[in-house]
Amino acid sequence: MKGYVHVYTGDGKGKTTATLGLSIRAAGAGLKVFIAQFLKRGNYSEIKALKRFSDLITVEQFGTGRLLKGKPNPEDIERAQKGIEKVKSIVSSGNYKMVILDEANVAVKLGLFPAEDLLYIIANKPEEVEIVITGRNADQKVIEKADLVTEMKEIKHYFQKGVKARVGIEK
Ligand code: ATP
Ligand code: MG
Repeated sequence: MKGYVHVYTGDGKGKTTATLGLSIRAAGAGLKVFIAQFLKRGNYSEIKALKRFSDLITVEQFGTGRLLKGKPNPEDIERAQKGIEKVKSIVSSGNYKMVILDEANVAVKLGLFPAEDLLYIIANKPEEVEIVITGRNADQKVIEKADLVTEMKEIKHYFQKGVKARVGIEK
């Protein structure tokens, strides 16, 4: 089965949760999934839940978990670059049918690695591998090379009322 390239971007809620839904569906079909979470570090509820599917779904985090205000520090850059290199080898191995790069668009936007790394992954992926890239402000070049692009548009978000990320709903 041919694999395609998805991008979930925009400022509304649902980008990361879309990848979790996709990974569950893929695992249900017996497909192996690799989820690389950029920027994040910590025990998000999805990581605890996905441990139940550890034979099919692997999650690795390549962030510091620090709020990236202003300039990222060398550790942010080092971890993100380690992550993108790992993803390149995971994709080219062909061992995983679906490879998810959560918040990779934000990593590019912050200058942790260049958009060209994502373009390289898209251009060199084995035919059957599905690639899913999330995060606000997707690079235009990445959008052009993707096969499916969905923009989550914020109509309302309780974040604007001061409701911070809640366990089990946002984290
Ligand atoms: P989800 O993980 O719930 O699917 P998402 O992946 O679409 O969300 P991100 O852009 O990754 O959304 O947002 C991560 C967190 O940023 C959210 O959980 C929320 O607490 C916070 N957030 C949401 N909206 C805004 C906003 N307009 N400005 C700043 N932070 C926001
Ligand atoms: Mg997200």
